[in-house]
Amino acid sequence: MITREDVVAWLTEFRRVIGENREYLTQLDSAIGDADHGINMDRGFGAVLAKLPSVAGSDVGKILNTAGMTLVSTVGGAGGPLYGTFFMKAGAALGNKTEFSAADWSVALDSAIAGVQQRGKATPGEKTMLDALAPASAALHAALENGSSQGDALRAAATAAEQGMHATIPMLATKGRASYLGERSIGHQDPGATSSYLMLKCAADTWDDR
Ligand code: ADP
Ligand code: MG
Repeated sequence: MITREDVVAWLTEFRRVIGENREYLTQLDSAIGDADHGINMDRGFGAVLAKLPSVAGSDVGKILNTAGMTLVSTVGGAGGPLYGTFFMKAGAALGNKTEFSAADWSVALDSAIAGVQQRGKATPGEKTMLDALAPASAALHAALENGSSQGDALRAAATAAEQGMHATIPMLATKGRASYLGERSIGHQDPGATSSYLMLKCAADTWDDR
């Protein structure tokens, strides 16, 4: 099971990893965007961390919804509202639970991804965060169907997200700022796919079997 304390640990670890990768994410965004993805994520998750103590004793839905609303209200551009939608949808799917299974998480992840797709009107293959998220969801489903442990299933999801992140390099961007570059977007790794991989890696690292 994954507890609300684990959810707080995940967000806390992701905030730390974002801080560590702030320059890297911004550098990726400077190649095909406006050089702010690391700055946006750092500001947004800094604000999320500041809000966490006030909701840490609430249900998982409230914790994730608060994270999502904080991202929407503190981060401009495309990435912030899309991550905001991700967390709000995941929270809505988990509702008033204070702990949940890996199978519950896979349902919540699907709902979060559907929310991102609806809000951004993108589908996998367009060089966005969806290219890390969608393969992770598929790998998580497959691992759980094969009877993998929680930790193994989450690691399989993170590995698929990492492969999806690398797979954005040869893609042509057709959504978001990178699409303005047309063919020149080819050959660069998508910043949002990179932060999404890091997010799922942090989930695997903090929600291991126990
Ligand atoms: P902005 O593009 O407004 O500067 P960020 O730099 O924070 O926002 O985020 C850029 C990332 O957002 C991209 O790398 C991409 O992964 C993601 N993104 C942009 N547009 C979309 C979209 N329509 N659907 C899904 N993800 C998107
Ligand atoms: Mg940007």
